[in-house]
Amino acid sequence: MTEVPQYIKEKKVIRQQYFLRGNAACPGCPIPKELDLLLEVMGKKTVLVVPASCSTVIMGDIHGSPSTVPVVHSAFAAAAAIASGLSRELKIKGDDAKVVVWAGDGATGDIGFATVSGAAERNEDILYVCYDNEAFMNTGIQRSSLTPYGAWTTTTPAGKREFKKPLPFIMMDHKIPYVATASIAYPFDYQAKVRKAKDVQGFRYVHLLSPCPPGWRFDSSLTIEVAKLAVETGIWPLFEVINGEFNLTGISKVLIDKSKRKPVTEYLKLQGRFSKMSENDIKIMQNAVDAMWDYITELVKR
Ligand code: SF4
Repeated sequence: MTEVPQYIKEKKVIRQQYFLRGNAACPGCPIPKELDLLLEVMGKKTVLVVPASCSTVIMGDIHGSPSTVPVVHSAFAAAAAIASGLSRELKIKGDDAKVVVWAGDGATGDIGFATVSGAAERNEDILYVCYDNEAFMNTGIQRSSLTPYGAWTTTTPAGKREFKKPLPFIMMDHKIPYVATASIAYPFDYQAKVRKAKDVQGFRYVHLLSPCPPGWRFDSSLTIEVAKLAVETGIWPLFEVINGEFNLTGISKVLIDKSKRKPVTEYLKLQGRFSKMSENDIKIMQNAVDAMWDYITELVKR
């Protein structure tokens, strides 16, 4: 007779997987979990549009895909345009499936920015999620406009000299109905934002900081710790903007008080990509983070 597994004896619930394990992501890569949490909220009536990126590889090949919903693979610059057309066509057909773009920072802030900005300006009815690993990871860790100041990449061997493009704030200035930032270290906050965005009509934008162990040069066991420190140091504020109203969320509400924020060095020291930063570079970065929070304080007061 077959032995009854221990988890059944203990009545433990096995959570359903929405994005399956055994995919091609690197060890410690947060992307599969981020997709799993996204799809858990969005449900089966979802179509993903994925431009060229690590996710294209993770989504599988002709031998099978870990995604439990249909995936449209798109050219780098075209995802927001394809999603716009899909969303309109589904509406014409009377189908209420949700269209979600799942794109990296290069496809969102650089190569595909024209179509992202255009779709936002037209207020297309799509959810756009940018998983931001702060470089073109899939093609060999080249800098993007969202790579932070001081970070090593293969095209910034001495550390990037320019600041990260403030994309969530740029999207906020498009006056779209919903904008949010999120982090895999705070999955309930992330899912709550996706849940809100799901039912909003129009262009919704969620920007998810997505640590990459080989690209950021940290041990693959530290993904969540790195993601958490990004928030705790104030480098990655958690917020949402609903119809123009700006609100901090979760732990970031208390971080408006500068004394509650950890120094940026706590975040930088875990990552090899920042190892070439000088004392002056670190000071510049700390000042930039503090200046961003001055701006956030103004937004909260409005
Ligand atoms: S290179 Fe980075 S983002 Fe790409 S699959 Fe590996 S860990 Fe994930």
